[in-house]
Amino acid sequence: MQIKRKYIPLAVNGGIGFGAKLKPKQLAVLSNYLEEDTEIELTTLQQLIVTVPEDELDEVVQKLEEVGLHTYPVGKFVKNLRTCNFCKGELEEGMPVAKELNRRIAGQEVPFTLRPAYTGCPIGCGEPLMNDIGVMKDQETFELYIGGYPKGRDARPGRLLRKNLSPEELFNLVDQIIEIYREHGKKREKFNRFVDRFGYKQIADAISHQ
Ligand code: SF4
Repeated sequence: MQIKRKYIPLAVNGGIGFGAKLKPKQLAVLSNYLEEDTEIELTTLQQLIVTVPEDELDEVVQKLEEVGLHTYPVGKFVKNLRTCNFCKGELEEGMPVAKELNRRIAGQEVPFTLRPAYTGCPIGCGEPLMNDIGVMKDQETFELYIGGYPKGRDARPGRLLRKNLSPEELFNLVDQIIEIYREHGKKREKFNRFVDRFGYKQIADAISHQ
């Protein structure tokens, strides 16, 4: 009897840089692992969603990372950080901070898919206020917003939680927020609904600079 192969979804992108760009070499490597008639979904989160054989997952991830692609699990995880295009420059707009934040949080398991966003200046091209967790660089420090939601009649901007943060304070507070959500969020409870039920003030009181 022939055993049917199991396929799983995998989110792929080119990592954080000046815009969401991919190189032909990266697409060529990606195509090696896709069936001819496979569909590739392009999401609003600057990701391609592909399906790959589960028994080849480790190899696929390794080969994609060798050509500079980043991979993330699909489902109830923290998504990759949505960013702006850093038009004013890598250091001025805090790209290393965005990369480190993404490295720390993307792929963490949470009650429901969580969308974080980062923007390099208050013009806000990365739309941080319309995402679950939003970070905005302003001069030399960072502002942290929570609870934004972009869709339908529930659409609303996030609320400012802390400002004048250093990178370390930012990383630490985001870690704490995700931990509170993981601990107290109900199964499949969206983050914006969690903020309403658990309470913005509860969250603000629970987190601390360390
Ligand atoms: S948010 Fe600021 S730094 Fe980022 S792309 Fe927009 S204008 Fe440029």
